[in-house]
Amino acid sequence: MDQKYVYFFNEGNATMSELLGRKGANLAEMVNLNLPVPAGFTITTEACRRFYEEGKQIHPVISSQIEDALATLEQITGKAIGHPTRPLLVSVRSGSSISMPGMMDTILNLGMNDKTAVSLADNTGNPSFAYDSYRRFIQMFSDIVLNVDGSLFEAELTKMKERAGVVRDSDLSADQLFELVHIYKMIVAEETEEPFPEDPIEQLMLAIGAVFDSWYNQRAMIYRRIHKIPDHLGTAVTIQEMVFGNCGDTSGTGIAFSRHPSTGSPHLFGEFLLNAQGEDIVAGIRTPETLDLLKETIPRAYQKLTAVAQCLEKHYRDIQDIEFTVENNRLFLLQTRSAKRTAEAAIKVVVDMANENLISREEALMRVDPAFLCPLMQYTIDPQAELEVIGSGMGASSGAATGIITFDAEEAERLHRTGLSVILVRPETTPEDIHGMVASDGILTVRGGVTSHAAVVARDLGKPAIVGCGTFIVDLEERRLYTDTLTLNEGDVITICGSTGRVINGEAPLVPPTFSEEFRTLLMWANEVKILPVLGSVNTPKEARLARKLGAEGVGLCRTEQMFKDPHRRPVMTKMMLSRNQIERRKILNKLIPMQRKAFLGIFREMEGRPVTIRLIDPPLHEFLPNAETLTLEIERASVAGNTTEMEEKQALLERVKILHESNPAFGHRGCRLGITYPEIYECQTQAIAEAALELKKEGIFVYPRIIVPLLSDSHEMQAVRENVQNSLEQVFTLYEDRIDIPIGAFLELPRACLTADKMAAHADFFVFGTNDLTQSTYGFSRDDAEGKYLAYYLDHKILADNPFVVLDQEGVGELIKVGVTKGRLKNPDLKIGVCGDHTSEKHSVEFLQNAGLDFISCLPHKIPIARISAAQAAIKSLKRG
Ligand code: ADP
Ligand code: MG
Ligand code: MG
Repeated sequence: MDQKYVYFFNEGNATMSELLGRKGANLAEMVNLNLPVPAGFTITTEACRRFYEEGKQIHPVISSQIEDALATLEQITGKAIGHPTRPLLVSVRSGSSISMPGMMDTILNLGMNDKTAVSLADNTGNPSFAYDSYRRFIQMFSDIVLNVDGSLFEAELTKMKERAGVVRDSDLSADQLFELVHIYKMIVAEETEEPFPEDPIEQLMLAIGAVFDSWYNQRAMIYRRIHKIPDHLGTAVTIQEMVFGNCGDTSGTGIAFSRHPSTGSPHLFGEFLLNAQGEDIVAGIRTPETLDLLKETIPRAYQKLTAVAQCLEKHYRDIQDIEFTVENNRLFLLQTRSAKRTAEAAIKVVVDMANENLISREEALMRVDPAFLCPLMQYTIDPQAELEVIGSGMGASSGAATGIITFDAEEAERLHRTGLSVILVRPETTPEDIHGMVASDGILTVRGGVTSHAAVVARDLGKPAIVGCGTFIVDLEERRLYTDTLTLNEGDVITICGSTGRVINGEAPLVPPTFSEEFRTLLMWANEVKILPVLGSVNTPKEARLARKLGAEGVGLCRTEQMFKDPHRRPVMTKMMLSRNQIERRKILNKLIPMQRKAFLGIFREMEGRPVTIRLIDPPLHEFLPNAETLTLEIERASVAGNTTEMEEKQALLERVKILHESNPAFGHRGCRLGITYPEIYECQTQAIAEAALELKKEGIFVYPRIIVPLLSDSHEMQAVRENVQNSLEQVFTLYEDRIDIPIGAFLELPRACLTADKMAAHADFFVFGTNDLTQSTYGFSRDDAEGKYLAYYLDHKILADNPFVVLDQEGVGELIKVGVTKGRLKNPDLKIGVCGDHTSEKHSVEFLQNAGLDFISCLPHKIPIARISAAQAAIKSLKRG
């Protein structure tokens, strides 16, 4: 027996979407539910693959199965394709197993020719309807199958409407439509040098081939690349009896959502057009009205639609996006699928559905994709603020950001490294700009639309972006940005709102995200099931407060060097790094201590009663040293101006910078290496930590500081730092005549530290893995260079499956973590071990970390809710596994 390539609707069901496409499978499912669906059948995706194997030919085995199915369809409907008195008209629809809305082609009203048009007019007594359907068919078929430019038809349609003095297509008379059909056929004859095909079977086979062919059209291919949909899936083709929304004022077509797709509100929502066919809405030719129009004009169809939407939602247990048509008061369903929705709606819907007992709480938690929630964590512009709006474009990626203007990726990266917030402004972006986009807080382009490179990448990175901001002229030479009334230079501050597309002069006040009641409920449910505690990685009291608000159960990592990145504190730090000897250094450190103590006091207060892990300073030299080239320029300038004192000072500085220069600062004199060679640095920091804790203890506030040592490679380093830190602690305790338990731990971010974890554990009270640097040091990739240069190529060519800086590499980095955990606990079975890094909110990584037996994860404040959901999902999965 030949393989089965064609399935009638009643032979399929929703689980068969791989074979029938999602559309075909769901049409079958609706038929099984006894819902009003026009009769039809689906040609499988296997037939599509075969089509390409045969060099774009429909194999005779397949065409004979199609002809058999067509005969059955004719029997069921009592009509026949091309029949002079009872003509059957069909749609030919595309649909793959993963829905790609609007990407491939669909042809309506197939089976029309001069004869069937006449009988359709006679049978319905409605010639304008018949010729409206005919002219639609010629236009669609010619555009899709015969490759005739669709605008040629549009132009004639517009001309005809002008001549007739009407605005809407549906106001054209039967005679005018008849004439239009004639004109359309002449266009086809002229463009293709062949008459329009009148034979309906020929029309059908050509249309099926064209739909298969549309799988590889440009927009479908781009859509698949963006959404990582494999090319080999292919599309199914559904042949379905036409129902007509264009036969008068008791007919129409629309799209309905069982709940609102952007707010999640549990009411039927949608769009409707009276006296129209489906593609009018999809193509945006006419602006549709709301479903209220249907409710008023055809109330019975509206009621039926409401009932059907509820039925479908109950059946699929998810919001449905339903395409329907009303023909002479009768409702027909043409498609249903799970609706695409905003993050806000996604959350509201699952929480509401769990409260309605439609799904369980676990299912509610499992259904949200944690990564998809990023837009909810963004800062927005304070709605109360008065703003100087200086331009506007298309909001391409939501959220707001303030930063200084910069015009190229390299500069963006450099400024970002020095701790500044940057808005990258470009005419447009290209793949070469990616490292600059990563380093920027927001992106603004003058050209491009919402699917341009800048927009797609920004959304991917979760960064606010505005594209197509034609208000501005960018002068890359002069490094300026113009509007009609204003000039902005590189270094000026602007704020962009990626949701509304507004550009604001200066710094606009931003407010942290507020969460809906449903989101808070979902997060509460997450806490009820998750196993891994989620801590915050914060550097300032302000960040600590936000982390607490978002549910941090403590601080997993406080990077002390980050406290010195603000413009006031930075020079002190720079001075410290430039000091020539211990005496000089101590003098400056004495200035640094009170600053640090103040910061620690603030963080401790915010985290009252919870652990706060503070990492001793790990300053990569180059981030704090003056730039040698800039200095050389300044010296020249001072010498030209005759300013000898300045010149000599700067020369001395340059000498010092040259001595401190490192060829590879990432692996340079930093971390514990600095702490060991200049012990006074860690002494001072320890002192500040202990003092802050004891001050608060006096006030009756309980805090749990922990100290952690960065960039360890050998246990002797840990031993040396530990001795030093303990001594300093004892000094403070003596002075205060009080003491407090401060565990001292090891930060594991180099492979050797993981491999020797048993020895480390002899001197460390706890471990924290730093997965960002561990990934860099395991791969030997420098993240900025990798992401800016070769990583995109690696991912495109599948050399690596995922970006290891986003999804934890379980085989390599994960293995080192496992070794570290095993060896560490071999030495000390009660050793507490945590992880911090950008992986700690990504769902696969979190699951791995939970199963590797870690005690906590720590992430940036705005990632905490995402981490909580990820942790809940990991727990639910392991619970299911038993
Ligand atoms: P897409 O995947 O682009 O949404 P569809 O195959 O769903 O393409 O077709 C687009 C529109 O065409 C549908 O929403 C529907 O309104 C209309 N349509 C498709 N088949 C029929 C039919 N048999 N009768 C009436 N309208 C139809
Ligand atoms: Mg559709
Ligand atoms: Mg590090």
